[in-house]
Amino acid sequence: MRIKRLEILGFKSFVEKVSFDFTEGITAIVGPNGCGKSNVVDAIRWVMGEQSAKNLRGRQMEDVIFGGSEFRKPLGMAEVSLVFSTEDGRVPARYLDYSEIQVTRRLYRDGTSEYYLNKTPCRLLDISELFMDTGVGARAYSIIEQGRIGMILLAKPEERRFLIEEAAGVTKFKSRKQVALKKIEVTRQNLLRIGDIVAEIR
Ligand code: ATP
Repeated sequence: MRIKRLEILGFKSFVEKVSFDFTEGITAIVGPNGCGKSNVVDAIRWVMGEQSAKNLRGRQMEDVIFGGSEFRKPLGMAEVSLVFSTEDGRVPARYLDYSEIQVTRRLYRDGTSEYYLNKTPCRLLDISELFMDTGVGARAYSIIEQGRIGMILLAKPEERRFLIEEAAGVTKFKSRKQVALKKIEVTRQNLLRIGDIVAEIR
């Protein structure tokens, strides 16, 4: 999946709607200190499902909503959309018929949060699953911030294994295995309860 476009409205310093087009090749974002370069990366991380305000350099999640400036009032909502092209075919089968996939996240000041996939409301889980094994995602290796390379080099083998598993495409299966194991456990408990009831009735 290749990032095609990023649209930001009311997120951190981006009070007006802005749209970044990412064409083929390398895109560099340059500008003076404090102009919002890192906020662009924060927006990408956020729309992909980041749940930690700290990882977005804030204290609480509402800090991502434009908080006002000398000339502008604070906004009540932040919205970020990330558009991917599906040309390389490295997308889940159900998205192969679409020429692009749009992921949107919205947050209101009262804490209400909304996620959309191709403009249809969805769960955070749907977005996480979409990104699993693509290398893209809130915690994946597609975003390498300052200091991360050092962290990877110094990481314990088990921690480094996470990145290798993501690249090898097994993360999704490991996650589904966990869900299946939980269901098996719930079913086992239900069977035990049914066994008790049957024994009482006899
Ligand atoms: P540097 O080159 O120094 O790393 P940068 O270009 O990466 O800077 P950012 O860290 O992306 O800059 O942006 C910092 C700016 O974003 C600050 O001016 C800060 O006030 C502003 N900012 C962050 N959060 C909000 C918010 N919720 N509302 C309004 N402005 C915000």
